[in-house]
Amino acid sequence: MPPDSRISPDEVGELYKISRWGNGYFSVNSRGHLCVLPERREDGPRIDIMEVIAEMREQGIAFPAVIRFHDVLRSQVSLLNTTFRDVIAENGYQGGFLAVYPIKVNQMREVVEEILDAGAPFDHGLEAGSKAELMAALAYNANPGALTVLNGYKDEDYVRLALLGRKLGRRVVIVVENFSEFSMIVRLAREMKVRPLIGVRAKLAVQGGGRWAGSSGERAKFGLACSEIINGVALLREAGMLDCLQLLHFHVGSQVPDIRVIKDAVAEAARIYADLAVSGVPLRYLDVGGGIGVDYDGSRSAGNSSRNYSLQEYAMDVVCGIRQICDETGVSHPCIVSESGRYLTAHHSCVITNVVNTIHQTKTGFSLSRTPDEHILLANMREAEEELDGDNFQEIFNDAQQIKNDAINAFKLGVVSLAERAEIETIYWRIITRISRMLDELDFVPAELGRIAELKASQYLCNFSVFQSAADTWAIDQLLPIVPVMRLDEMPTERCSIVDITCDSDGKISRFVSQDGHDRSLLLHAPREGEDYFVGLFLTGAYQDVMGDMHNLFGRLNEVHVYCDDDDPADFYIEEVIRGATADMVLATMQYNAEMMARYVKEAVDKRIRSGDIQPREGVRLVDFYEECLGGYTYLGV
Ligand SMILES: *Cc1c(COP(=O)(O)O)cnc(C)c1O
Repeated sequence: MPPDSRISPDEVGELYKISRWGNGYFSVNSRGHLCVLPERREDGPRIDIMEVIAEMREQGIAFPAVIRFHDVLRSQVSLLNTTFRDVIAENGYQGGFLAVYPIKVNQMREVVEEILDAGAPFDHGLEAGSKAELMAALAYNANPGALTVLNGYKDEDYVRLALLGRKLGRRVVIVVENFSEFSMIVRLAREMKVRPLIGVRAKLAVQGGGRWAGSSGERAKFGLACSEIINGVALLREAGMLDCLQLLHFHVGSQVPDIRVIKDAVAEAARIYADLAVSGVPLRYLDVGGGIGVDYDGSRSAGNSSRNYSLQEYAMDVVCGIRQICDETGVSHPCIVSESGRYLTAHHSCVITNVVNTIHQTKTGFSLSRTPDEHILLANMREAEEELDGDNFQEIFNDAQQIKNDAINAFKLGVVSLAERAEIETIYWRIITRISRMLDELDFVPAELGRIAELKASQYLCNFSVFQSAADTWAIDQLLPIVPVMRLDEMPTERCSIVDITCDSDGKISRFVSQDGHDRSLLLHAPREGEDYFVGLFLTGAYQDVMGDMHNLFGRLNEVHVYCDDDDPADFYIEEVIRGATADMVLATMQYNAEMMARYVKEAVDKRIRSGDIQPREGVRLVDFYEECLGGYTYLGV
């Protein structure tokens, strides 16, 4: 490696903004590998991602794959709980703090179990929003000190399941989202002879901001208006169940980018809480919902992929906001409940993919020798190239664009030949490359020429599906940090965008985290012959992990769960391997039957054997191969 292409861990960290989005969990080691620091300390344990990859290959686990760092998940759980507890203690707040993990953020059993285990000292509970999630909560949240909070629309079975939880002695709170649920809960509780715990979800006037602004505000699909809350209180009082109404809930939306929204919502909800408490409702919990943002792009801004506050600030604003209004109104401080999920899970998992091919715009290289009677457009393009210098590049750029477009039209009319077109395009890309080099030297790039970097960017074809593994980059333009996990001691030289292996032109990523905000291209290394180049998509642990779909029948990924080795801070172990979907599994979800498919192919082969077109021995091999592929991974083998 030439000395000038070396880059220090600090420089590379700056280039990919690793410390800005990493929340202290990522670092580059002296070998140029990306590492995970589960305790957020450089002098604590560290896991070299390339070593995990090496071990996975030894075990025959194919890529792309998800790696879960369970220690990171555990660390986030204690961070949320201890931050709130510290803020409560430091500010003379009289109420407690209880967190519940919303299962929908990442429903994987291992994730839920890990959060409950790491959260046991803090009585961390669960939040469910559907019957299936509630059934998981009933089976896994057995801690009598932890809450189970139930949101979402409910039918009778949903309520009966919740009351079953009460019979088991659990603190299951049914949060009323819709007025009709009050009378259903009263009726079913009487029928099952059990005292329910009831909450109400307030429809706040404050708008959430960011992508999920619609989760609150007057037109939100969830929650009760003030009049419905008052009528609900009357209904419960009438039924002799007012003592069951213990929780007031709100949720302004996910990934709240702006701290002002949190302050406003807390103030509005605390007012409702205090008013109800003063009027004799024995409330105990104020549930502030989820929504703590993750700084995906590391900009610490109020943009949609970021947030302009820290966890510490968030906790301060919640605790002090509630305290102030309770003190003013003489109401005792409630136990604060948090339902944040994205914040807990985003950092713990990543998708590792390998680059399978690179598509270079500029790599064409066809040349014709110059002739006196060549087409005028070709002659003009040659002239543009010859005239290009540091003073006229903007003019030449415009000319070259024009000539190229004219040439394509002329080609369609049959007046420019295929070879002439190839030559014109080759020169065009040479011009673009030279202009781009000139622009690198400039402090100020004219806006029109900003497109050149984008034009010139290569496409790196990566072994994954955007729809399965990075759904939010496609669906809602979410930014995800993307970083090579190797060669980070070497200056990356290739400007590129990322395309996946689906046959869908939307299967690409063309917005990236960059030093100054967002960029249309990403700097990666030129892959080396005979060496895999591994790139990671980070912060995929919340929603992305479980919302993926099987577009093009690319199925779920292979997955490994990694833990630090307690005895050796530089070592790790793979605790569990979950094999991803095989072709027959994804086909079965669309009603195909792999056995029948194999039979159809075998029958077709047999027919060709009978007609003498295929040798019997070869026929057997072909059928075996087809069957083997049915049981194989859906991604590209390398
Ligand atoms: C989705 C959801 C959450 C989780 O939100 P995050 O942004 O992941 O913290 C919490 N509460 C309710 C009611 C939800 O619907």
